[in-house]
Amino acid sequence: MRYLLAHFLFLKMRFFVKTNWFIRIIFPNYIWKIQTNEKKVFLTFDDGPTPEITEWVLAQLNKYNAKATFFCIGDNIKKHPEIFQKTISENHSIGNHTYNHLNGWKTNTKDYIENVNLCSSEINNLQSTICNLFRPPYGKIKFLQAKKLIRENYKIIMWDIISYDFDKTISKEKCLENVLSNVVPGSIIVFHDSNKAWQNLEYVLPKTLDFLKKKGYSFEKID
Ligand SMILES: [Zn+2]
Repeated sequence: MRYLLAHFLFLKMRFFVKTNWFIRIIFPNYIWKIQTNEKKVFLTFDDGPTPEITEWVLAQLNKYNAKATFFCIGDNIKKHPEIFQKTISENHSIGNHTYNHLNGWKTNTKDYIENVNLCSSEINNLQSTICNLFRPPYGKIKFLQAKKLIRENYKIIMWDIISYDFDKTISKEKCLENVLSNVVPGSIIVFHDSNKAWQNLEYVLPKTLDFLKKKGYSFEKID
C-alpha cells in the first residue's frame, strides 16, 4: 500500500519543486530537511564526479567558503578518483548514490543493496571516514530497500527543494526561481554536477550562492 502510494505521489511530485508535507509524513524515516532555526542551507550535488563540472562546482563553493554534500555514483568515482579526492580534500561531505545509478523501483532488493554497498566500498577505500549518507537515484526506493539500508546504519537523505537543473525543458531563470523562492533555514537543495544539468547549473549555482549569502545564509554540509 505504502509502495503504491509512493508511486503515485512521486509521479505527482514531478511537478513539485518543494517537497510537500504529505510526503514527509508518509516517509518520516527519510531526511527531508535539517532542523534548525539558523540561516543555514544544505546544497547537495548528485551524479558526479564529472570532469570539469565537479571541479567548477568546487571552485564556486570555494569563493563563498561554502561546504556541500556530493552524492556520488560509484562508477564515476572509479573513473575519476582524482576529482573525488579533491572533493574530500576540500572538506565536503560524500554520500552514496549507488554504483550504477539504479532505479530502486525497477531493481530487486538484493541487487540494490549490493550495488549500494559496492559504491560504499569505492568511497571508503578513498576516504578515512565511513560513508553513511545515501540518496536513492530518482528518489525511487522501495520500502524494504530503505528499511535494510537504515538497518545498516545509512541515513536516507532526500530533499526539501529540487532545482530541476537536469530538465532541459525548463529555462535557467525558472530553475533559479525554483530554488530561491522556496529556501528556508535547513533546506536541503538538489543540484547535479552532471553534463545533463550543466546548462542550468552554470547559471543557477553562482546566483544561488550570491543571493543566499546576501540574505545572511551560510552553506553547510550534511554529516
Ligand atoms: Zn542521480
